Amino acid sequence: MKPPLEPQAPITQDVLTIKRQLPETGKVNLIGLTRAEMKEALAGVGVPDKQQKMRVNQLWQWLYHWGVRDFEAMTNLAKPFRATLAEHFEIRLPEVVSKTVSADGTRKYLVRIAGGHEVEVVYIPEEDRGTLCISSQVGCTLTCSFCHTGTQKLVRNLTAGEIVGQIMVARDDLGEWPAPGTGTGTAGPRLLSNIVLMGMGEPLYNFESVRDAMKIAMDGEGIALSRRRITLSTSGVVPEIARCAEEIGCQLAVSFHATTDEVRDRLVPINKRWNIATLLDALRTYPKVSNSERITFEYVMLKGVNDSDADARRLVNLIKGIPAKINLIPFNEWPGAPYERSDWSRIEAFADIVYKAGYASPIRTPRGEDIMAACGQLKSATERARKSRAEIAAEVGQGG
Ligand code: SAH
Ligand code: SF4
Repeated sequence: MKPPLEPQAPITQDVLTIKRQLPETGKVNLIGLTRAEMKEALAGVGVPDKQQKMRVNQLWQWLYHWGVRDFEAMTNLAKPFRATLAEHFEIRLPEVVSKTVSADGTRKYLVRIAGGHEVEVVYIPEEDRGTLCISSQVGCTLTCSFCHTGTQKLVRNLTAGEIVGQIMVARDDLGEWPAPGTGTGTAGPRLLSNIVLMGMGEPLYNFESVRDAMKIAMDGEGIALSRRRITLSTSGVVPEIARCAEEIGCQLAVSFHATTDEVRDRLVPINKRWNIATLLDALRTYPKVSNSERITFEYVMLKGVNDSDADARRLVNLIKGIPAKINLIPFNEWPGAPYERSDWSRIEAFADIVYKAGYASPIRTPRGEDIMAACGQLKSATERARKSRAEIAAEVGQGG
């Protein structure tokens, strides 16, 4: 192959200003760039117009189909070009700091991103699929009163690379990059077959990065997850819901949690900005615009707060006409939480009313409880670990 580049062109200012530039090395991280951005980045190092699309395709396959992390391994690229790539770019993924495996097979990864912040990623294996729960922000700007993440300030938005990177490090751990000569998933059902944006943060308040990351995850030349297997959960950021339908087109879940504005104002305070009626209007148009299936209504079961028969009946009345499934989530307690989990018999009675009204009403089995990996518990586990490390340090200090 002819070397594509003459003397190595200096990286242009345009590329340097791409937001994915890594502060420590001054190089640009290829992970998380959209195809258009990658093309622009290649133009910046002198790849001629006519070659750009092909080079993006080649790189894309190495990164996202084969999971390769070293430019040297990209054997269909000429050596000088590989050197140019290594000079200007990096393939940087979040670092897995620890991994915990639950008795039920749930895996929880503690992942460190630039700046030393940590987020948690949870892999939940099931018989016919494996779901990865990923985070979109460190902390959250919203303050839902039952959610532990909501008690923490927003530290920062994750970049697209850090979001898709969570999927990639989980695939590393599962050993799921295809072997040479095979395609993804040709060996049977995929271990990592579904993605839910239900970790830390409000994905619709980090729209561009979440969109770009999900586009990468859906791209057929790489990770190739169908948009039907990706579910974004929002607390109800109404203006971004239509955009999500148009620009991402994934499945939507909404943290509904209450059937009156009075209660929802308390549980999900964003309701004061966009109330139940406004939210439902946005949800009505979602399936058509995104050509997606049912909307999942998430409903956390809080004892004596939102779990009465009257609530169940109001809920099914409210959502009439929306293709929906109602996902009942037994509340996961965290230290200092102001609520309790509804009794099991109450949850079942509630589920029964919903079911009789014609809606699927699965009760979400808490998974990975023994490793504090259940919904809304993620950050508390990290903080606890930190605290105990601090305690240990204090003890050591006292001892010496
Ligand atoms: N910010 C987004 C996505 C992250 S939360 C959202 O709010 O939808 C994912 C789901 O877990 C949401 O439905 C959220 O309301 C729920 N959740 C948060 N804390 C919980 C807890 N302690 N117990 C059970 N579910 C919880
Ligand atoms: Fe943020 Fe979602 Fe938790 Fe509300 S439930 S505080 S939106 S992470």
